[in-house]
Formats: sequence, structure tokens, C-alpha cells
Amino acid sequence: MRKQLRPATLCVRAGYVPNNGEPAELPIVQSTTFKYDSSDDMARLFDLEAEGYFYTRLQNPTNDAVAAKIAALEGGVGAVLTSSGQAANLFAVLNVCEAGGHIVSSSEIYGGTFNLFGVTMKKMGIECTFVSPDATEEELAAAFRPNTRALFGETISNPGCAVLDIEKFARIAHAKGVPLIVDNTFATPVNCRPFEWGADIVTHSTTKYMDGLATQVGGCVVDSGNFPWEQYADKYPGLTTPDASYHGLTYTKAFGKMAFTTKLVAQLMRDLGSTPSPHNAFLLHLGLQTLHLRMRQHCENAQRVAEFLAADPRVEWVHYSGLKGDAYYELAQKYLPHGSCGVIAFGLKGDRQTAVRWMDSLRLVNIATHVADARSCVLHPASHTHRQLSDDQLREAGIPVSLIRLSVGIEDVDDLLDDIRQALEKI
Ligand SMILES: *Cc1c(COP(=O)(O)O)cnc(C)c1O
Repeated sequence: MRKQLRPATLCVRAGYVPNNGEPAELPIVQSTTFKYDSSDDMARLFDLEAEGYFYTRLQNPTNDAVAAKIAALEGGVGAVLTSSGQAANLFAVLNVCEAGGHIVSSSEIYGGTFNLFGVTMKKMGIECTFVSPDATEEELAAAFRPNTRALFGETISNPGCAVLDIEKFARIAHAKGVPLIVDNTFATPVNCRPFEWGADIVTHSTTKYMDGLATQVGGCVVDSGNFPWEQYADKYPGLTTPDASYHGLTYTKAFGKMAFTTKLVAQLMRDLGSTPSPHNAFLLHLGLQTLHLRMRQHCENAQRVAEFLAADPRVEWVHYSGLKGDAYYELAQKYLPHGSCGVIAFGLKGDRQTAVRWMDSLRLVNIATHVADARSCVLHPASHTHRQLSDDQLREAGIPVSLIRLSVGIEDVDDLLDDIRQALEKI
């Protein structure tokens, strides 16, 4: 048999492998705590000398099996589930960067992450410089400072649908001696595995395609195990020097390739929480088992819808990397050869009200603050998430007033096209 199973098989089989007579589907271990026969048994767990469970804030068998499935899909050495995608990005950065540190991030990222990096982390003493994902290598390099600890980007940006040149970002990150963190939420490991292109850490909002049915909010941090922390020991003392809160244990020495993952659990999860409930991890597990099928259908449907929109005279512009002539078409051919995702950004000719009239005329596509769901849904940042901003402020934030984010689901595409077409007749 092939040593490395293919992604579809990993979706269905990786992570939870039942032994003889055990349940075929992952059991929900809905317990906060675990009992031991002797004091010594439990003491060894606290010293990180033995593996086992003691409290679900740190580890839980259901959560761990789902994390292991995602680690296998991404080709990483370890993964940790978090209670949201926001927590995943926060933890990925905090695990390598402390107060007084600095990160460089693509400016084309999810609004929540943009706030986290630009506003909230600043209050925590971590600064962020935003750079266009299309910046030259020189421009990217110029954003680095002596205290820079990570470079961040999204494989496919939410909501702009820009495709990241992962190899370019990885080259600069490594030349500067820092890890590249890639939020792979929209592509999912079915369509892109950023570690194969040089990324060191991958994050996910599992709320999106991985779940796929809008049942749970969750996140995940995956480590490739590749970044040489010891080589840059002065930058990453949290990983390479004794942790006073764990009996003076040094993560890189004690855990090798698992240093990043172990520190994230033993220190950040312990102190900051953000653990998902095992029941939510189970729901995520249900979604992951069909991820490969759903991604294929999302991409097929979105391609048809994008081509339809691009050909309609009432549509001003369409951003979808599967369209020939799209600014990211070439990068998508390289990094996302089997398809990108179901999300399309487009604008109608007209003003804010034109977009509103179109959305209000839709009968099948939902108006929802969500994306990457089996059900098609639509959001207009100027009317919804960013409604407090003026047209000028929106332009400054890089969000065209006309931008409509259409998340194409897995319904019959002809029903979707019928709905989109009849709503266009009403604007
Ligand atoms: C939604 C999203 C997040 C935040 O995830 P939550 O699960 O909503 O906290 C982060 N990154 C991307 C790309 C997203 O789409």
C-alpha cells in the first residue's frame, strides 16, 4: 500500500482509528475530567512525563482525534483544535511572539484577523505591519524589523479572493529567520497544502468548509515541524529556554519536532483556555469526512456562477481565481490546480442600493454573516459587516462599496443561476 494516503482517504479515515470492537464513528468523550488509580500516575502527567488525559481544557480524546485528522490532511506533525478561528490565529502568533515583538501580515486578510493584529494585539504589546500580498520581495523584506517574529497571510483571502504567493512569502520569512503562518481556511488542505510550498504553521477557521454545515464555531493550529527554532534561539526563548511554569522544561529539547504544538497546549491552552467542546469537535468530525466531496462541488458550482456573472452586462467586476484573466489566475493554477473554493467577490454596476435590491430579491441564496457553507449565502460588507463606514472609509480599507461576497454552496447550480438571474432582473 502507498505510505502516504491520498486526501480523500484521509478525510474519511485519518485521526480516529478504532481498535477491535470499538465504535466505528468517533465517540464523544463529554467529560471534563479523567480518573486515576494512584497519585503518582497523575503526577507524571503534570510533569509531561507520561501521555494521558487529565482535564479537557488541555486535552480530550475526541478533540485530539479530530486534530490528528487535520494534521494528517495538512501533512503536519501536530495540531490543536481551538474554540474559534480567531483563537487559532491568536494562539499561532502568541506561541512565537511576546509583548515587545512584531509581526508582518498580508493586508488582504479576514476582517476579524485584521482587527486582532492591528488593534487588540497592539494593546497586548505586539505590533503588526500590513503589506500587500502583491508586494515585491524587496517591499516585503522592508517591512521586517529586528523584533519581527512571524509573517502571516491567507491562502485565499476573505473577502477579496486574492491568492497568496506562498513560496514568495516563505522565501522572505526564511531569509529573515521567522516562520510563515498561513490561514488555509478557504482553500482547505483538499485544495492546497501550504506546508508543501514552505509554510511553517497553518491555521484554520473550522467554522467554514471543514464543518460545512454551519453547526459549530471552531479553529485549528497545525505545525509542520519544520521551523528550526533552535537556530534562532534568541528570537524564540519561549520555545528554546526553560519554561519556569513547567519545571524548567525546554520545549525544543524535550519534544523536538513537537515543541511548538506541546507549548501551545501546555502553556497557552492551560493559561488562556479557548478549548472547543468535545461535542463541537464531533460535529466538525462529521463535516471533515465529506470535505473532499463538498469542496469539489463548491468549486464546480462557483466556476459556473463566476462565468455567468462575468458575462452579465449588469455586473461591473468579478474576482474569482478560476476565471481566465483574473489577477490571481496564474497563482491559482500553481497553488490550487484542482480548484480554489466556492467564494466569489463581485460588484454590480450602480450604488449601495443596487446591491441591496439584488440581495433582497434572492429567493434561494441566504443573506447571512457566514461563508463556506453548503447553503449558498451572500453578504455585502458596505451594508452589513462594515456598514458604519462611509464610501471613502471603505475605499481606504480596501473594500469596494460594490463588493458582494457570494459563497456558492452545493445546491444544484442551475437552481442557483436561476435565482441569481431573476434577482438581477429586479435591480
Ligand atoms: C472566519 C474566518 C476566521 C475567523 O474564524 P471564526 O471561526 O469565525 O472565529 C479567520 N480566518 C478566516 C480566513 C476566516 O474566514
